[in-house]
Amino acid sequence: MVGLEKYHGTKSRHTCPSCNSKNDFTRFIGDDGSYIADAVGICNRASKCGYSYTAKQFFADNPERKIGLTFGKSKRKAKSKGISNYALTNTNASQPPEAGKGFDYIAPEHLKTTFGSYENNSFVLFLLNLFPDSTEEIQSVLKMYLVGTYSDYQGCYTCFPSLDRLHRVCRAKLIRFNAKTGKRLKGKYDVSSLVRKLKLKEDFNYKQVFFGEHLLTRFPDKPIAVVEAEKTAIIASLCMPQFVWLGSNSKQWLKVERLERLGKRQVILFPDADGFEQWQAVATDANRQGLTVRVSTLIETLATDEQKKEGYDIADYLIEQARVARVQPVLQPIVEPVVARIESTIIDYSNPCTLSQERVDALCNRF
Ligand SMILES: [Zn+2]
Repeated sequence: MVGLEKYHGTKSRHTCPSCNSKNDFTRFIGDDGSYIADAVGICNRASKCGYSYTAKQFFADNPERKIGLTFGKSKRKAKSKGISNYALTNTNASQPPEAGKGFDYIAPEHLKTTFGSYENNSFVLFLLNLFPDSTEEIQSVLKMYLVGTYSDYQGCYTCFPSLDRLHRVCRAKLIRFNAKTGKRLKGKYDVSSLVRKLKLKEDFNYKQVFFGEHLLTRFPDKPIAVVEAEKTAIIASLCMPQFVWLGSNSKQWLKVERLERLGKRQVILFPDADGFEQWQAVATDANRQGLTVRVSTLIETLATDEQKKEGYDIADYLIEQARVARVQPVLQPIVEPVVARIESTIIDYSNPCTLSQERVDALCNRF
């Protein structure tokens, strides 16, 4: 039965992967009595560190490892330690079709080849131009998300890798941008992937994770904000570092079972103007299942009809604000009023749902 390791002396308490405190980390043990994975466990320094990566979350991230495992309820233990119950019931029902096949990962050395040549990277040039006094913040955010550069005869791409919580590289999207506008180019060869460019594997089995998911364990106390595009996550992270910003890759990708992987944390969705209804329906459903998911109406309220058609998003809004506030230091004047405004637009789903059940079902059936 999967559960937390029982206490049998300091040997059974390990070094926390987040705060590095010795003998303070309780690890999860699998059916066969061996540890599940290095980072899977709970830090005992609940208020000072708060690191928690449960077996349930790990198996949701790694469905191929779930086969043959049974989860126990261990209610007494969960209650006495203030840990939420991690029992899983319908393991078979929640297994995606790719389970058991094993996922492919991009070797770290391939990703490392993209770290550099930022002077040719249109997205980075755009950011430096937009926030000329915030070079350090830009560098630190790029480093945090491991953003890189890839160049070949087809052009120079910005590389956005998605890593899981164990820091394995699940995918690396390549996108070309216009350095002046910061908009993505829309030609046939303007979007690609490292797997394709490096011809890593024909039938690469991608593990589906959020862009930025590897940051969840690093910032266990920050609320989570979800946007659609990687570019948006980066820009929002620069302007509002009080959230962990995740990218969903596409509108349709965001589903309740993927939000479930984020655990009981506070989640705020910032849909693009053309995705408000879809994400609102996902949030309604998520809250019905006990998650805390709220939606910001900022873009829905602000965008004109034309902007809505073009998929105006929070990055566009922040870029506009940055251009308006060309005062030194650039990031400072944006942050407070914008955050106040954004906070006022978040719908609290603990209030009764305003959408009818029919409407929600209709929206849900679309994908
Ligand atoms: Zn810790």
